[in-house]
Amino acid sequence: MKESGRKQGALSPCAACKLLRRRCALDCVFAPYFPADEPHKFSCVHKVFGASNVNKMLQELPEHQRSDAVSSMVYEANARVRDPVYGCVGAISCLQQQVDVLQTQLAQAQAEVVHMRMRQFSSTRDDNPASASMNSASPSTSRQQFMTNSQTKSLFSMDMVVDHANNMGESLWSC
Ligand SMILES: [Zn+2]
Repeated sequence: MKESGRKQGALSPCAACKLLRRRCALDCVFAPYFPADEPHKFSCVHKVFGASNVNKMLQELPEHQRSDAVSSMVYEANARVRDPVYGCVGAISCLQQQVDVLQTQLAQAQAEVVHMRMRQFSSTRDDNPASASMNSASPSTSRQQFMTNSQTKSLFSMDMVVDHANNMGESLWSC
C-alpha cells in the first residue's frame, strides 16, 4: 500500500479532495491512501460508503491500521459495485462452495485410497506366497500402480476451480 499519495512539492489535491472539490490540507486524512493518480479508487469507495463515513472510519483508527482499512473498503466497494445485491458475501459464498466441492473431492480421493489399499491387501493374501512376499518387499511398486491408475485423473480437475478463485480475488483488489 502506498503511504504517500501526494507528490513532493506538488500542490495538486488528493483524489478524494479533487472529487469533493475541496482544498486538500497538509494533514488531509485521505491523501496518503487516495493518490491523485488513482481517482477510481476513491470514487468507488465514496459511492458505496460515502466520503464522510470513510473520513469518520479513518479518524477513529490508529494510523498504522488505516492502510489496511482502506484496502478493505476498496475491496468491499468494488465487490458491491460489481454485485449490488450480495457484494463481498457473493464472493465469500462462491469460495465457500468451492471449499465444499474440494472437501468432497478430497474425501472421495481418500476413500479411493482406502479402497485400493484394501483391494491390494486382499489380492496379496490370495496370491501365491512367492509373489506376496515380493510385493511386500517393494512398496514403490504399489505406489506406481496407484499413480498410473486412470481413476486418479479426477483428482487433478480441481486445478481449474483454484485458478478461478485466484482470478476473482485479483480483479477485486485492484480497480
Ligand atoms: Zn486531500
